[in-house]
Amino acid sequence: MLSFYPGPSQVVPETGDYMIEALDSGILSMNHRSEPFMKLLAKTKKVIYKKLEVPPDYEILFTSSATECWEIIAQSLTVELSYHIFNGAFGEKWFNYTRKIHSKTVGLKFDPEIELSPANLDFSQPSSVLCLTHNETSNGTRLKMEVMQLFREAFPEPLIAVDATSSMAGDLLDFQLADVWFASVQKCFGLPSGMGIMILSPRAIERAYQIGDNKYYNSLPFMLENFRKNQTPYTPNILSIYLLYRTLQDRASISKVNNQLRKRHEQLEKVISKQTRFAFLIKNAAVRSVTVTALESTPKNVKSLKKTALEHGFLLGNGYGEWKESTVRIANFPAITRQEWKELRDFLRSTLAGDNS
Ligand SMILES: *Cc1c(COP(=O)(O)O)cnc(C)c1O
Repeated sequence: MLSFYPGPSQVVPETGDYMIEALDSGILSMNHRSEPFMKLLAKTKKVIYKKLEVPPDYEILFTSSATECWEIIAQSLTVELSYHIFNGAFGEKWFNYTRKIHSKTVGLKFDPEIELSPANLDFSQPSSVLCLTHNETSNGTRLKMEVMQLFREAFPEPLIAVDATSSMAGDLLDFQLADVWFASVQKCFGLPSGMGIMILSPRAIERAYQIGDNKYYNSLPFMLENFRKNQTPYTPNILSIYLLYRTLQDRASISKVNNQLRKRHEQLEKVISKQTRFAFLIKNAAVRSVTVTALESTPKNVKSLKKTALEHGFLLGNGYGEWKESTVRIANFPAITRQEWKELRDFLRSTLAGDNS
């Protein structure tokens, strides 16, 4: 079966080979302060800088998940409150997690159909941390880099933190436009779940040391101290780190990957434009995500499409949150091969056009 679920999602086809390689190399039985492990960590960070085009003065940390990154930002980078701007379930979840730690945290919900702009926001100058969701996995919207740039220009003072969980390693991100970027590996990286990646600007690092949080096992200064030595605060999932290393090593440059995903997205738009049973949940094409698409119809049609897809060996994603019954979601992630995407496209074309009931 082939999964188009937007997380956990289809793992890269080479996962089994890489796992055997890891096992044979002996790295899985190594102490995490040993030379071989430190080398692996250094190589893994290096391949992330290279393949994702991370600026050299940014620092890379690993966590257990994107959710842990939400908590680290609240604990180690936030003074009193943060500002959360969101249009869907994941951005809202981040806001709600943070509120438990900082009760004055401000949340601002915007219409998923509109192109977000700092000019339309009704708070003047946020301080501390401004939190944006780059790719909202629940409804298939994303922020263009032009929008991120406007935010950086309008709000020079706060740190800008960006949840790029379902776009990092698939979409083109200009890391210079924000201070904290994070993702987990079970989306565009195409790896088994259970690991997060956090990327910090020099300003974010400076802020972490100024605040000096040291209460938790994942307090940022303590994390940084370890990762700078190519170690980790706790025994990490060495297998995940190895898989991340090998997957990125074998992957094309991010611009190539992104070109391919953009083409696929256009093909999907074409297929949908030629039938009437399903529509894009998001009508404004300018704000649609490239990596996650939500298609809308009646709950009956949604159910039937998912069932027919399964019979053909395709797992489509359920809707999420308020769109649970009325949408299917389709992941356009790099682990899905050219051929597999074509098979899905052909399936959708014939199934959606064939029966107009
Ligand atoms: C999947 C997802 C998360 C949660 O990821 P975990 O690895 O479960 O913590 C957070 N934000 C977005 C945008 C997501 O798509």
